Amino acid sequence: MPPTSPPGAREDDCLFCKIVAGEVPADVVLETEQVLAFRDINPQAPTHVLVVPRAHHPHAAATAGADPAAMAALVAAAAEIARLDGHEDYRLVFNTGAGVGQTVFHTHLHVLAGRPMTWPPG
Ligand code: AMP
Ligand code: ZN
Repeated sequence: MPPTSPPGAREDDCLFCKIVAGEVPADVVLETEQVLAFRDINPQAPTHVLVVPRAHHPHAAATAGADPAAMAALVAAAAEIARLDGHEDYRLVFNTGAGVGQTVFHTHLHVLAGRPMTWPPG
């Protein structure tokens, strides 16, 4: 049977755990005790930053259940990132599940800003 990690532990095959550990390079824009933020490698807006909790959980609801303070830290960091990039208005997105486009299964908050955006999203 393959080894399983306890919730919140690092997952060895997780890209964002590797970025948090400094094992994969990233364009880091903000670091706090609880979160790391770096620019998306395939930006969809002039500002497109991913904010991730340092602890591994597969999606936002899992982080919220295990560590509500980490969720607050993600949103606070997102607001600070938008401000640092000079944007008053910004969009925050948590994709949850492959069916809506989640491709990395470590909680991450997309911060998008700097261009007009339509609603509803595609
Ligand atoms: P999602 O589709 O919501 O799971 O978002 C995953 C995001 O991670 C996508 O927007 C990717 O462009 C981005 N991404 C994938 N690999 C990297 C990487 N090495 N550094 C920065 N962003 C990445
Ligand atoms: Zn991870």
